[in-house]
Amino acid sequence: MPIHVSGFQQFIEQARWWTDAAVDLLFPPRCAGCGRVGAHLCPRCRESFVPLVDNGADGLQAVSGCDQIACAYVYEGALRLAIHALKYKHVRQLAEPLAQALADRIRLNVDAGSLLCPVPMHEIRRRERGYNHAELLATSLSRIWDNPLVQSGVLRRSRVTSTQVGLDYASRYENVSGAFEAQSGYFQGKSVIVVDDVITTGATMQACAKALKAAGAARITGIALARTVLMQPNGCLQ
Ligand SMILES: [Zn+2]
Repeated sequence: MPIHVSGFQQFIEQARWWTDAAVDLLFPPRCAGCGRVGAHLCPRCRESFVPLVDNGADGLQAVSGCDQIACAYVYEGALRLAIHALKYKHVRQLAEPLAQALADRIRLNVDAGSLLCPVPMHEIRRRERGYNHAELLATSLSRIWDNPLVQSGVLRRSRVTSTQVGLDYASRYENVSGAFEAQSGYFQGKSVIVVDDVITTGATMQACAKALKAAGAARITGIALARTVLMQPNGCLQ
């Protein structure tokens, strides 16, 4: 498996797996979408995800630096609840079925060796949450697609940014502009697939792509599980 992890990280991953298994036994999983007992995401809720017909690119402002963008589903209903549970309710087990749902929908035209690279969280935020949800999705995708996962820390968020939620279009770009740094040399000439949970304006994806291109990446593909639209103050969808 082309995942670069140290022995200590492997130990932590195994301990986490056993802890999750024990918790599942004591408290059977409930579906994040409907609350039914039995799985973290039940088949009915999975079936309810609404695919984006154009892979979500339609209506997105040009995401400069990205050679292609693909989003799998509309950010609503059971998917919205599942993403919320993955991000804020510590239901890390949702990463696997959500990554599978993404892979069911998105077929990428990329080199086999393209690097999967999660949108990084700032180290302070990551410590607060205990994990980066985009990293969990990218890790599951590397298993599903057999694409290598980037080494930890090669793309990093160099400053703490406030949440994009509630910001208008221009403020979102301003908020994340220059917030990422990519390790020079590592990405030279590489094809990179940047993974995020949700794309709204594409501002975060654009800021990541800019850092990666500056570090020599040859081709950037931005992918996300869901695409949402931002309501403008005048009531129009952007
Ligand atoms: Zn359900």
